[in-house]
Amino acid sequence: GVIPAYVGRFAPSPSGPLHFGSLVAALGSCLDARHHGGKWLLRIEDVDTPRTVPGAADAILATLERFGFAWDGEVVWQSRRTDAYHAALEQLKCSGAVFPCACTRREMADSALARDGSRRYPGTCRDGLPPGRSARAWRVRAEGLIRFDDGVQGPQQEDLERDVGDYVVLRADGLFAYQLAVVVDDAAAGITHVVRGADLLDSSARQIHLQHLLGVAQPAYAHLPVATNDAGEKLSKQTLARAIEDQPPSIALVAALAFLGQNPPPELGQAALDEVWSWSRAHWRLDKVPRLRQAIAPLF
Ligand code: GLU
Repeated sequence: GVIPAYVGRFAPSPSGPLHFGSLVAALGSCLDARHHGGKWLLRIEDVDTPRTVPGAADAILATLERFGFAWDGEVVWQSRRTDAYHAALEQLKCSGAVFPCACTRREMADSALARDGSRRYPGTCRDGLPPGRSARAWRVRAEGLIRFDDGVQGPQQEDLERDVGDYVVLRADGLFAYQLAVVVDDAAAGITHVVRGADLLDSSARQIHLQHLLGVAQPAYAHLPVATNDAGEKLSKQTLARAIEDQPPSIALVAALAFLGQNPPPELGQAALDEVWSWSRAHWRLDKVPRLRQAIAPLF
């Protein structure tokens, strides 16, 4: 069949309601997809069940609808994709890319700090489990220099061994790690472009590494600036979620457009939602998105 030129997605974690930072990611990913005549998919990242707040996913979907977001196809739920993650882990085991690890958090902290003051995995179980110990987690051997050109942040490079260390794909609590789930799901959905917050910029190298190991295509990446409060702290779901849910959609969308450097006319905030969307689609330019984190008005 014909491979679509652009398939984008928004992938919120249901750990709270939609907040300004996630609205920015939703809007940026949606507009970039539509600008390219592409598809825009929605995935609820509820793989981390301890962090999932009951009702949060439905609240996110309801807010997206109220704001006029229209996604293509069915919503994908990570909690229903365990079989696919299992299959990927088996593939990684077969190729020897992963190893079982017996270390507890405490043991790792002690030996990594003792060795070089870092928080990286110290490599204890890399060449086999210590006698008498059993596997708690599975880790990927972190090797190689990963380079990619980010659509907003520019050229990136990460030395996986030095900067990240052997990373977890199956956690000690039996849950699959976000890094594996996101790679398996993006590949299964045929995602060609990942547009998301720059708080995930340093996950990209691990995800590209996993794409190579699993033999799946590498999407293009664009990381949007992170919204902060006046103190320069990343907006948290706790503090700012409510404001977004309760905002008139046009005003909040126009604030997100302004944050993304799109220079919306100030009166657009008073316009009907349809008009905000048509203005947005007509004017979207990824090259106007600023790179750096920015503070936003206390309203949000
Ligand atoms: N679920 C992640 C979050 O809400 C985003 C994952 C992604 O876009 O790759 O922070």
